[in-house]
Amino acid sequence: MKAATAGLLCAVLLWALLSGCAQQQTEEPEVEVYQYNDHLYKLTHDEPFSVNLYVSVGEDGILVVDTGLPLQTQDLYEALREISPSPIRYVVLTHSHPDHTGGLERFGEDATLIAHENALMQEFFHLPPNPLFDGKTKAVSEPLSMEFNGEEIAFIPLEPAHSNDEILVHFKGSNLLCTGSSILPNGFIFVDWNRDGSLDASYDRIEMLTQEYADVPFAPAHGEDMDSRATRAWMNEMRKSQAAVESKLNEGLSVDSILATDALEPWDDYTNFPNADRFWAATVARHNGIFEEPIPPVVEPMTAVLEEEGVQAAIKRYYKLQSKSPDAYRFGERQLNLLGYQLLYRDRVDEALTVLEENLRLFPLSPNVYDSYGEALLAAGDTARAISYYEKAVEVDSTFENARQVLQTLRTTDDM
Ligand SMILES: [Zn+2]
Repeated sequence: MKAATAGLLCAVLLWALLSGCAQQQTEEPEVEVYQYNDHLYKLTHDEPFSVNLYVSVGEDGILVVDTGLPLQTQDLYEALREISPSPIRYVVLTHSHPDHTGGLERFGEDATLIAHENALMQEFFHLPPNPLFDGKTKAVSEPLSMEFNGEEIAFIPLEPAHSNDEILVHFKGSNLLCTGSSILPNGFIFVDWNRDGSLDASYDRIEMLTQEYADVPFAPAHGEDMDSRATRAWMNEMRKSQAAVESKLNEGLSVDSILATDALEPWDDYTNFPNADRFWAATVARHNGIFEEPIPPVVEPMTAVLEEEGVQAAIKRYYKLQSKSPDAYRFGERQLNLLGYQLLYRDRVDEALTVLEENLRLFPLSPNVYDSYGEALLAAGDTARAISYYEKAVEVDSTFENARQVLQTLRTTDDM
């Protein structure tokens, strides 16, 4: 994935993360299952980055905490079904960022959604919220608890820190606390400034967790479980790396130039998100009042038009904005690819094809546009044409791994 512009924060990062997944899709399904006790499990999917789901399975049915990225849904769902065929009664969100909500539809078919009241009001990705849970939601605005599979589970709403729609999920009998993205082992603190997040509040959150839940193991949404001691050590590293960035900022360096120095070298292995160092440096800069104005992606106005006037109008808007205000938005192959995949994720295959077709016209020298179009054709059930587009991707760039892998799979299946 190409490095994002410094200062671009959460929503944009998350768009970028999702589009970055496109090339990973044909990797072997990789879900690691860890069992805490007779009914509590952790499911970890590592591609394109590590995401954990926590699952309670027992005679009351299944409760799932978080649902991963859209592209992880199938693998995660299959892994869950290997553990149990029971009905999924509850889907719980630690918060509503897209690396937690990707499988909502799949996991939530017969479930009640439990989430922070703010999460229930978010419009995921600027597209209308999923109507799936209409009338089947439990908004957490004050601490709630319930008995499920033989233990008490508490849901505790939090003050804004990483985001403004977070809850803790405390499996009391199992003595495990799902901390969402409050703690990011082997990663940097991530702040969603667009949702009232802040760095100070993030540190306060970590302090609070290590004090109030000193004896409870933390089960983060990304990375390995940590106890409060390890969490404190991690927070120390955060403070040190923050100071390292700040000393460069004080020398007048920009985020980009800081990344070109060895300032963050001691934390080279903090890679739980793509571009984690860049977002961290930008976060520290913003914390210090240095705000590198992000240029919004053109998909933002396009999705608004899409919902009001349809896909053709959205594409027209792309060209209009590009000619009228070329510096006000980010344009390019990646933008239409993003929109195409967003539609694909929502099963709006025809619209996805229309958008991705435009990318074929605009960027005929990119292998990825053929690869994406091929994927949409597969979703549309047109395998023969999909193969021809994957072939075209390889023709444009013989090293384009994703297309090669898909072709191999499709040809093998064809032979059978
Ligand atoms: Zn998040």
